[in-house]
Amino acid sequence: MIATKKIAIFGGSFDPIHNGHLYLITSILDSKIFERLIVIPAGDPWQKEMHASKLDRLAMTRMALKGKRVDVDDCEVSRTGPSYAIDTAKHLIENEPEAQYTWIIGSDALQNIASWHRFEELTKIVDFLVIIRPGHAIETANVHAEVKWSSMEIKALDISATAVRHLLAEGRDVSHFIPQEVHRYIIEKRLYGAA
Ligand code: ATP
Repeated sequence: MIATKKIAIFGGSFDPIHNGHLYLITSILDSKIFERLIVIPAGDPWQKEMHASKLDRLAMTRMALKGKRVDVDDCEVSRTGPSYAIDTAKHLIENEPEAQYTWIIGSDALQNIASWHRFEELTKIVDFLVIIRPGHAIETANVHAEVKWSSMEIKALDISATAVRHLLAEGRDVSHFIPQEVHRYIIEKRLYGAA
């Protein structure tokens, strides 16, 4: 019997991508649970306000992940209209219908998952792997019993893009929080009020 190929999807606004995301990605790769990890910067994440353009966020994601065994997919950046996970999942499944798909989210995202567009449909075609983030215990009150999910403890770093943006705007040191080349890009492009 041929084992089903396991594919992980990690989507985010990556505004900007930071070491918390990178640590999660490295942990997933090291776990060897999945044959393939696809990282997807959101084009228009309708539930959040963005601070850098989708092309800048895609560029930073690509440079941060250069040389890593992941595929950065620009399907959401290339699509027009709001970025819905259901459209992304369907697009990926169309390309590789035999695989089993797991959507990776931080524990903060689990609480709002029921509000995702056409969520019921999504739960039928992907399962979820929840990464526990510091300060965000797993909260399942809004998670329907039919949702297939498991969790993973990776000692995730206490870093958020919000904190990184604030530090940049205040001209403070961000070298522990984002890769050097991403920092250079932010300065060159004058993103997030960085000087
Ligand atoms: P913001 O502060 O702007 O809300 P963020 O830091 O949460 O951004 P996103 O790009 O919105 O980053 O997150 C993408 C995914 O990565 C989400 O599922 C989120 O829960 C997860 N994530 C973000 N930061 C971390 C972290 N430090 N450790 C583990 N998972 C994280």
